[in-house]
Amino acid sequence: CGIVGYVGPKQAQDVVIEGLRRLEYRGYDSAGIALVNDGAIASDKRAGKLANLEKAIDESPLPAATTGIGHTRWATHGAPNDRNAHPHLGATGRVALVHNGIVENFARLRAELEAAGHELVSDTDTEVVAHLLEADVVAGADLTTAMQQVCQRLEGAFTLVATDAADPGRVVAARRNSPLVVGIGEGENFVGSDVAAFIEHTREAMEVDQDQVVTITPEGVSVAGFDGTPTEGTRYHVDWDLSA
Ligand code: GLU
Repeated sequence: CGIVGYVGPKQAQDVVIEGLRRLEYRGYDSAGIALVNDGAIASDKRAGKLANLEKAIDESPLPAATTGIGHTRWATHGAPNDRNAHPHLGATGRVALVHNGIVENFARLRAELEAAGHELVSDTDTEVVAHLLEADVVAGADLTTAMQQVCQRLEGAFTLVATDAADPGRVVAARRNSPLVVGIGEGENFVGSDVAAFIEHTREAMEVDQDQVVTITPEGVSVAGFDGTPTEGTRYHVDWDLSA
């Protein structure tokens, strides 16, 4: 139901948890986070309130990291439990993915993956996308290209945000009939399901059209269609009273 992604110099855990807190008003049943640290994904996810996730992280801290993604879930496929909470990982744990919306053709994609030997561990429609993305990056695609390729195979409405452990400093997002905004900072950039995800850090935002993939690094933002054609988002300034 809520999504945050961050790349920059700050501790990604703090930025992501703060962003999720500002998205809490939308309602959710689970929360989770993934960080990219030293070539690996570190992740935790919990059913229930964000406080449950924060308690788990307090007891078993995640490593310091400056790239991260976070999610609050409103379950549509699979019970609201720890296992079905996002992020979901690919087969080797290299790619982490969060998703808002519904992948309508997930059953067919799941059958295809299982036939190819993939073991899926959740009941969600989301996990197939993590496996497809990771298969593409393992085969040599960069995460942006993988996202473009995989989105062409998806039906439904989705906001997706992913990271690749082998490519720290890059977060890739995509949207189809589901909200996604980019937050533009100095030496840091953000994606979110709404501007509340990053309003604490920047008021410079970028709107992206349907069926676009956005790549953020600390230095910049690029946008392309699912077919890879480069395009541009529309920048705007967020006039919002934070105390409201
Ligand atoms: N369909 C996904 C699930 O049930 C995402 C739900 C959401 O938008 O939070 O896990």
